[in-house]
Amino acid sequence: DATIAGEFGRVMAWADEFRTLKVRTNADTPADAKKARELGAEGIGLCRTEHMFFEEDRIAAFREMICSDTVEEREAALEKILPYQQGDFEALYEALEGNPVTIRFLDPPLHEFVPTEEADIEKLAKSQGKSVETIKNIIASLHEFNPMMGHRGCRLAVTYPEIAKMQTKAVIRAAINVQKKHSDWTVKPEIMIPLVCEVKELKYVKKVVVETADAEIAAAGINLEYEVGTMIEIPRAALTADEIAKEADFFCFGTNDLTQMTFGFSRDDAGKFLNAYYDTKIFENDPFAKLDQTGVGKLMEMAIKLGKPVNPKLHVGICGEHGGDPSSVEFCHKIGLDYVSCSPFRVPIARLAAAQAAIAEKKAK
Ligand code: PEP
Ligand code: MG
Repeated sequence: DATIAGEFGRVMAWADEFRTLKVRTNADTPADAKKARELGAEGIGLCRTEHMFFEEDRIAAFREMICSDTVEEREAALEKILPYQQGDFEALYEALEGNPVTIRFLDPPLHEFVPTEEADIEKLAKSQGKSVETIKNIIASLHEFNPMMGHRGCRLAVTYPEIAKMQTKAVIRAAINVQKKHSDWTVKPEIMIPLVCEVKELKYVKKVVVETADAEIAAAGINLEYEVGTMIEIPRAALTADEIAKEADFFCFGTNDLTQMTFGFSRDDAGKFLNAYYDTKIFENDPFAKLDQTGVGKLMEMAIKLGKPVNPKLHVGICGEHGGDPSSVEFCHKIGLDYVSCSPFRVPIARLAAAQAAIAEKKAK
């Protein structure tokens, strides 16, 4: 029984008396969010919005967007996704009952969205009034050999600002509706921009977000605060964190990508050559399972040291898989993170690890 009841609940309550590190969860469905809340999550640290686009109607609209020629056409295609997306976010805000929810804007490589089946390509050609050949040419022009290092994350929002605009509308409209329903909650959306490696990318996307959000809030005639922050998941973002901190309300370390890009190891090929390679013991651990404190961890420390003096209000978390690994949680406590975010079933382990880290620190003093 993994619920907060009985003996388990008592132990967890002791842990909570000691820990200073908050524990959030990675969740993008209301069911996961509720499960994590039962296990003690104090917020959502990462809501990935990718899967929300893969339902049939939505992916069709997204494909129309990719094949459109004008801003107006792209906006019209994305408008079809907006009500669904707003519904997704409302359900998450409801599940979190006024606790923080960080929503990350669309991240996957663009190629995951393009149709490969002949029938889908024909359907798209028909809906767009274009020839099959034209659609195939568009698809071919989007092909990349290294999609994970290509057209994804904020780069998508830079080439298609309409996506960021639509997602902002969905986040803000959802927050307004839930806030109106529950006047005793503080619904304060945290919008997270992925894969930033240059402050100007963040500035560019943030401008779209702020203009859109402020217009929505003004139209609703309501007081709603929101934050715009960034993932730190490319080494260059950590190295230029003083610049980035000027534009960010928060940092969240995406240590899956940060590990991939610091080691140059593919996160998608674990279990293949990598497992045998780790067996050589040249590397102490699988760096995707345990935070590499001398490399990736150093980049995290550096980002905090550079960012905090520039923006003392900056809050900092981690939402890579390491957020649920006890030794990594201990390291996150040591370097002064505000929260770790992990998958729902890892929440209790993270709470315990955070308590142990706080106790160890006290003992050492
Ligand atoms: C990460 O890169 O660590 C992260 C949390 O984002 P994703 O796993 O979705 O790339
Ligand atoms: Mg990532």
